[in-house]
This record gives sequence, C-alpha cells and structure tokens, in this order.
Amino acid sequence: MSTLLEFIVSQRWLFAIFLLPISFFYDIYWYLRSKWVLYQGSAPRKHQERVDFVQKQVLDWQKFGDGRKMCTARPTWMSISQQKITYKDKAYRVQINLMDILEINEEKKYVRCEPMVSVQRLFEALQAKGFTVPIVPEIGDLTIGGLVMGGGLESTSHKYGLWQNICLKYELVLADGSITTCTRDENSDLFYAIPWSYGTLGFLTAVDLLIIPLKPYVKLVYQPTYSLQETMDVFIRETKKDVTKLEVVDENDNDSVEGIMFTKDTAVVMTGTFVDNYESGKLNRMGLWYKPWFYKHVETYLKSGPGVEYVPTQDFFFRHNKPFYWLTHIWVPFGHNVIFRYLFGWLLPYNFGLLKKIREACVPEEATNNMVVQDFGFPLGYLKKAIEFFHEQVEVYPIWLCPAKAMDTGPVNALKDESKESIHIDVGLYGYSPKPDYNADKTLKTMEKFARDNAGYQGLYAETLMTKEEFMEMFDGSLYLKVRKSLPLCEEAFPEVYDKVSKLGRK
Ligand SMILES: Cc1cc2nc3c(=O)[nH]c(=O)nc-3n(C[C@H](O)[C@H](O)[C@H](O)COP(=O)(O)OP(=O)(O)OC[C@H]3O[C@@H](n4cnc5c(N)ncnc54)[C@H](O)[C@@H]3O)c2cc1C
Repeated sequence: MSTLLEFIVSQRWLFAIFLLPISFFYDIYWYLRSKWVLYQGSAPRKHQERVDFVQKQVLDWQKFGDGRKMCTARPTWMSISQQKITYKDKAYRVQINLMDILEINEEKKYVRCEPMVSVQRLFEALQAKGFTVPIVPEIGDLTIGGLVMGGGLESTSHKYGLWQNICLKYELVLADGSITTCTRDENSDLFYAIPWSYGTLGFLTAVDLLIIPLKPYVKLVYQPTYSLQETMDVFIRETKKDVTKLEVVDENDNDSVEGIMFTKDTAVVMTGTFVDNYESGKLNRMGLWYKPWFYKHVETYLKSGPGVEYVPTQDFFFRHNKPFYWLTHIWVPFGHNVIFRYLFGWLLPYNFGLLKKIREACVPEEATNNMVVQDFGFPLGYLKKAIEFFHEQVEVYPIWLCPAKAMDTGPVNALKDESKESIHIDVGLYGYSPKPDYNADKTLKTMEKFARDNAGYQGLYAETLMTKEEFMEMFDGSLYLKVRKSLPLCEEAFPEVYDKVSKLGRK
C-alpha cells in the first residue's frame, strides 16, 4: 500500500468527522426536496399522470433507444448495495418520480404505494393510523421499489416470509409501453417472477402491501449463549415457535426472532412479542440519540445474563439504522463512545449513499479488499455447518442471523432446495476479515460454491462472482425466463438479472 493510501485508510475517521454534518444536512436537503416534490405533485389522483410519464419515456426508448437496455435513472450511489454499478452509464435511463403513498385501506388491510417511498416514510404514515407492514426492513432509506425488485427481510420474517410475501399486487409499465397489474390469481406468472428480477421485467409504478394493526411496544427477551451448539438449539427452538400462522398472533408465539453472534461460541438470541403496555422500570427508548448502539447494547447481555425489556416499536424496527448493523464504527471508530454519542449522536445515521460515493471516490478498491458485505440464505438444517464454514473462511463478527419462512413466491420457492425446509436463515456477514493473506475473490468464490452445494443462496444486492452457469445452478430461472420471453419487447429492453447484478455479467 502506498503511504498516501495507508494514511487515508488509517485516518478515515478524519474524513468521517467532516462527513457527519455534510451527511446530516444532505439528509435534510433530500427530506425537504421530497417534501417539495410531494407538495408540487403529490396527490393520489396524480398517480396516473406520473405513470403516463414513465410510459412516455418507454415509448420514446422504442424510437430513440439505439439498442440500449433500459434501467431506472436513480443515481447508482443512492442504492443500498456494495456493488459497483456501472451499467447505468451506457443504458437508457427512465425517471421513476413516484414517491407517494396512494391509499391506506384499513378495512381491506392494504397500503398502496409508489416505488420511491422509503421504508421510514411508509412506517411513519402507517403508524399514524395504527398500522404497519408486517415486515419493516431496518434501514430507513431502503425504497419500496428496491425491496420489491431486490428483496428484503426482517426479524418478523419467520412469520411473514420475505418482502415479496406481503406484496398483494404490482402495477408495472412494460417494455412495449403497456400498463399492467398482476396478483397471485391474475397474471400470476408475472406476479411470481417479479421478486428478485431487479427491474428486468418492467418498471414498477405501484404496489399493494399487506398491513396489520400496530402495537406500540415490543417485549424483547435477550438470551445469551456460550457455545455454537447452544446458539443453534436456542435459535432453532425460538424460530420454530411459529412457522405456520400468517396473521393470528398467539401470546406464546414469537413475533420477532433474530440472533447476533459475537464470536463462534458466543451469541445473543432475541425474541420479541408486540404488546400494548410495558412493565414500569423496564422501558428502553433505544432510538434516542445518546443511547448505545443496538448491537453494543445486546453484547452486554453476554456478561449480565438473560434479560427482558420493552422497546417502542418504532425504535425496535429501526434498531440497526444508526450503527448500520456494525459498519458505522469502521468509519467512526469512536462513534459509540458515550461523549461522542451525547454530543454528536443526533447527527447519525450516516447517509449510506453519500458514504458509498465518497468511498468510491477516495478509497481505492484494494484498501477494502478484505471487507465482506454478504448475505447468504440457508435452510435451517444447514445453519451450523454454514457458521463453521464462514468462521473458517472469513471469521467476520458479529454475524446477523435472521430467519425467514419459505413461502410460495420468489426465489426461495425457486431455489434448488431438496430439503423442503420451511425456514431459511439469512446469515449476514458485514465487516473486515482478520484472516492473514485473505484473498477476497478466491474466498467469495469458495463461499458461493459452499452455498450452491448446501441448498443455499446469495443476497444479490451484494457482489457476486459466479459464472452464469453457477448462477443458474443456484437459482431456478425457468419461470423468470419464460415470462421474459412472453412479454413483448422485454428481452430487447432489459438485461437478464445475471448481467445486471454480477461482476462478470456486467463486464
Ligand atoms: C449492509 C447491508 C445490510 C442489509 N440489510 C438488509 C436487511 O436487513 N433487510 C433487507 O431487507 N435488506 C437488507 N439489505 C439489502 C437491501 O434490501 C437491498 O439492497 C435492496 O434491494 C436495496 O434497496 P434500494 O432501495 O437501495 O434499491 P435499489 O438498489 O435502488 O434497487 C434495487 C433493484 O431494484 C430495481 N428497481 C428499483 N425500483 C424500481 C422500479 N420502480 N422499477 C423497476 N426496477 C426498480 C433497481 O433497478 C435495482 O436493480 C442490506 C444491504 C446492505 C448493504
């Protein structure tokens, strides 16, 4: 490493400090901008006008596209992903200025919204009416469109499945300029092919999502474990408490299950139940700016033993926002320090997109070579083997464990999983590998092979080095390819998923 590069990497906190107010004001700018856009054009009745504009751009592509593929015009650095997205430079970009919540139907229990609505905004709008979507991915800036086309899950997913499982209806503009809708019963092939299609079947203009009544607090139970076997036993027991019901909540069931492994042998398994009240003296408003970062707070239970507390539901849903799981400390190593939190904690979270932009501009790729940001899913029965494997390969801790019910739509269904396991576990690896002589590409390929050999799959927001054959071995693309063929102009208009999301495919 050159001396300058070493300086940049070792003193990155200096950049991070300057970045903190920039990120804060930048977020305010985007907040005010979206308010202005909404003020100017907001109104559910204007939805059709906005869809017409998407349609017009697609029709223009047919005349002026010059053989280019289409994609959304959203700047690549705004995407919550580690990928170096380069395809947009050469593509025909279509503006999707759709950021409105169109209808909250309390009687029929759905919310209809446009794709650029963020998770945070959707949650706040529903909360005001006493509702929530059953799955609230923890990063507030994620967009509904990104979650539909990309994929998502949360610690309630052991009950409700992946993000696509709470989707009831999609509205899309297709490559021929037509507007279509699909549900599980109507146009169902398209409906089932949308999740994880990464915008390669059409442009999403609206989605109907299931909503459920919101309870104001979560009763959180922390169970520390001190060996890998104990972690597996507790995690599997708690996960399996409810895998069958969709909406009925039994008091003995867990509404939420997640695990954080701090080392191979130490972890804390957390189970949550949504409740109306809290026991006095046990309320933790963990969303307040000076409060310890969630994973740091969780770690204390390894010393103190099992515990119970009550958390406001909003604070709970966005618990990983400020520390961005455990990635913020890479930029601000002292960010968790109590003085820093009291003085500057209110400036967090960092804007992920801005951090990504600065990293891409200032930090050369080799400096982040041993940085791992990957999610792999495995059927529950393969979890222990997977943890042992990742320990040997990357030794990145903490590890996030999040169970998801395997349901009828999307890639989990399309996986070549012979085990027919009803629960899959997302294993989130975020951080630097301490392994000496760590070879990023070689290790990633080894991890991808391990996933393919063990009924697993890779989160496609992350970098993948699989060849197309390996990709098709991991995912069953038959329905997706059939739908692409059947939709007019689709194959000319959009690249295949593999060509969009993989490093080799993008070359
Ligand atoms: C460290 C880390 C942790 C994460 N943790 C979680 C987690 O806990 N839970 C979770 O659910 N996810 C998590 N994610 C992943 C995240 O869900 C995905 O990256 C998500 O797809 C990105 O959403 P986005 O809003 O940034 O969408 P984008 O990246 O902008 O979009 C995703 C894809 O959808 C396409 N698309 C978007 N809108 C449209 C549209 N209107 N029409 C057609 N195509 C469209 C885009 O072209 C792109 O291909 C994590 C990611 C990281 C980096």
